Amino acid sequence: MSFPDPAGALSGERTGNICDRCNRGLQTWDVARIYATYDKETGWTLRRFYCLECGSSSIESGTKGADEVVADAVFWNHRLAGVRVSDRSPPEDGNSE
Ligand SMILES: [Zn+2]
Repeated sequence: MSFPDPAGALSGERTGNICDRCNRGLQTWDVARIYATYDKETGWTLRRFYCLECGSSSIESGTKGADEVVADAVFWNHRLAGVRVSDRSPPEDGNSE
């Protein structure tokens, strides 16, 4: 059981520039903190978009059974670039590490 690499999958993903918590608008080259989940139908989906002040670098409340990541990404022209995963919660089944 293998999952596509979240950093690779989320690179180039289109996104808005407004922090989900404080409504601050990010500019191109600002670093955003994102939260994404994996679904086998749709792949990696961006769920939350935060500025660095609002986003936690670790997964706060896990969703049981879902593969989740928190990552930093450069906001570039309404897309994500340079995605770096900082925390990951693998699904409870299929984790053979
Ligand atoms: Zn914010």
